[in-house]
Amino acid sequence: MSRIDIDALEEEWDEDGGVRGPRRRISRTAREKLARLEIGRVTMVDRGRVTVLLGEREVQARFGGTMRGEKVAVGDRVRVKPARRVSDTPRVVERLDRDTVLARSADDTIDEERVIVANVDEVVVVIAADHLDAGRGFADRVLVAAEAGGLDAAVCVNKIDLVGSGVESEVEAVEDRYGRAGYPVLRTSALTGEGVEALQERLAHRWTAFTGHSGVGKSSLFNRLVPHALHEVGELGRYGGRHTTARVRALRVPGVPGAWAVDTPGVRSFGLAAVPPEELADLFPELRDLDCELDACLHAGDPGCALAEAPDAVPGDRLEAYRRLLAALQNPTSET
Ligand code: GDP
Ligand code: ZN
Repeated sequence: MSRIDIDALEEEWDEDGGVRGPRRRISRTAREKLARLEIGRVTMVDRGRVTVLLGEREVQARFGGTMRGEKVAVGDRVRVKPARRVSDTPRVVERLDRDTVLARSADDTIDEERVIVANVDEVVVVIAADHLDAGRGFADRVLVAAEAGGLDAAVCVNKIDLVGSGVESEVEAVEDRYGRAGYPVLRTSALTGEGVEALQERLAHRWTAFTGHSGVGKSSLFNRLVPHALHEVGELGRYGGRHTTARVRALRVPGVPGAWAVDTPGVRSFGLAAVPPEELADLFPELRDLDCELDACLHAGDPGCALAEAPDAVPGDRLEAYRRLLAALQNPTSET
C-alpha cells in the first residue's frame, strides 16, 4: 500500500478543474494503482469530511482532489487511499458505481434529485398508526422511489399501541393494500417494544434505510434498534427543527448480524420530480404486470386499455394512488 502514490495524479486533475472527464486523462498504471486501493462504505458525510467503514473499522477521511464535482452519499462504495503519515488523513479518491439509489426532490416541481442513500438493500417507510391517511400518501411515494432506484421496500406501521378497535380495520386495510402489491407490512410500537424484534430480524445481513414524516416515531424506533446512538425524541434539536436527525447516518445494529440501519432526516414531503409521468405505471408493481396493448398507455381509462376492460386488476385505492400521483407529476406544484 505504501508505494501507491496518486498525489501527482490528483494535482493533475485539480488543474484540469476535474470536470472534463478526468478519468480519461489518467494513465493505465495510475488506474491500476487506484484499483488496488481498499474499498470502503460511507457511513456518514459531513461537508468535506466523510466516515468510511473499512473492513470492521470506521475511519475518518477527507475527499481527495479526484473527487471534485463528485457527490458521495451514505452507503456509497469508495476507494480509500490510506494516510501515509500519522498526522495525515486517509482520502476518498474514487466512488464506485451504485447498485441502488434512494433519491427524492424537494417537491414535484424541483427537478434536482438528492440521493439520500446509495446501495441500501431496502427502505423501510415508517408511518404512524394514528395518521394513516398522511402515511399512505407518503408511503406510496417512497415505494415509487424505491422501485425507481432498484431497492426493496417495506412499510412499518409504528405507534401500533394507539390502535383502538376503531383503527384496527384501518391498519388491516394498509396491510392489505401494500401486501397485495408485494410489500411486507410490519407493526411496531417504539413505546412498548411490540414488533421491534421482528423488525430487527428483517435487518440481518443487509443495509436498510428508514424514512418517514417527522413525528412518526422514527427516532424512538432507532433508539430501540441502536441504543448507543441516542436520538433525541420529539424535542428541539441543535439544528432548530423539531425533528432532530439532521443528517443521514448509517449505524450498526447491535445483536443483529451484518445489519446496518441508515437513519435519514424526517421530511415533510417526498418529491418525485425526476420520475417521468410515463414511467410511473412501471413503478407500481400491480400496474407493471398489466398486459396493456395500447402504446405508451398511462392506464388513465382510455378505451382499449387493459384497465378499462378489467378494472379490478388493481386494488381500488392503489389505482387511485397511481392516478393521483400521475396527476401530480403531470401538473407539478410545490405541494406534495
Ligand atoms: P420522529 O420525528 O419520527 O423521529 O419521531 P419521534 O421518535 O421524535 O417521536 C415523536 C413522538 O411520538 C414522541 O412524542 C414519541 O414519544 C412518540 N412516539 C414514538 N413512537 C411511539 C409509539 O410507538 N407509540 C406512541 N404512543 N408514541 C410514540
Ligand atoms: Zn393501459
